[in-house]
Amino acid sequence: MALTRIWRPSPNYSSGPHQGRLVVVHTSEGATTEASLSNYLAQSSSQVSYQVCFDNQGSPGSITECVKPDKKAWAAMSANSWGVHGACCTPSGASSGWSRTSWQNQDTMLRKCGAWIGEECARFGVPIVKINADEIRAGRSGVCGHGDCSGAGAGGSHTDPGPNFPWDVALTYAGGVPGAPAPTPPPATGSAPPFPGTMLINLTRGHGTAQWQAQMATRGWTIAVDDVYGSQSEAVCRSFQLEKGLTHDGVVGPETWAAAWTLPVT
Ligand SMILES: [Zn+2]
Repeated sequence: MALTRIWRPSPNYSSGPHQGRLVVVHTSEGATTEASLSNYLAQSSSQVSYQVCFDNQGSPGSITECVKPDKKAWAAMSANSWGVHGACCTPSGASSGWSRTSWQNQDTMLRKCGAWIGEECARFGVPIVKINADEIRAGRSGVCGHGDCSGAGAGGSHTDPGPNFPWDVALTYAGGVPGAPAPTPPPATGSAPPFPGTMLINLTRGHGTAQWQAQMATRGWTIAVDDVYGSQSEAVCRSFQLEKGLTHDGVVGPETWAAAWTLPVT
């Protein structure tokens, strides 16, 4: 079901088009409700805007929109032209100070944010995948934070939404990954989905990476479900292989893939 977007316009925007290649998440660091943040953005003197904002109140199916998706919001300096920008309505210090648990306590906000990510990714043909500064610099398209734009050399010095923002949760709500990590490890099912055909190795993206990551998370491993086979995935893979007496090469081939489903959780 489409999000309801309450229209509370901001005069702070540039005409489009932007590149439509990034869906960027921010924190407001002050205004904790959509009403108060959109009031601030409605003042031309603030010189700032986001396309949308999300608070932790009301229905998770309703957000506030301040700039239309085809216009350029004034959210992240030169990264304004890279895509669309949405702000989580947080108190000051959230991006630097909130733990993963603090974020997860804002479940309505995360659901709104995730649903918006899903809708904008569909609108602009952006993959629902978290990308980092290097990938942005390389011209890739995906979901990221203001801090990733800063790291890529645009967007100034801001680091929001911070190191503990639960991208896996938000992307799950966006519909981009198969299932959230379960809180308790379920027993192995005894039958594995077919091996996707591509070895998961250094920085593999897609090809079942998120499916494998989600399965390892449900087995109880600490692993981001971001659909990128990075150093954390490789470390989990290696530990799992060692534990199960498999060839411990840190590569998910057919045997390691199947073991993630067929071998018991120990
Ligand atoms: Zn920001």
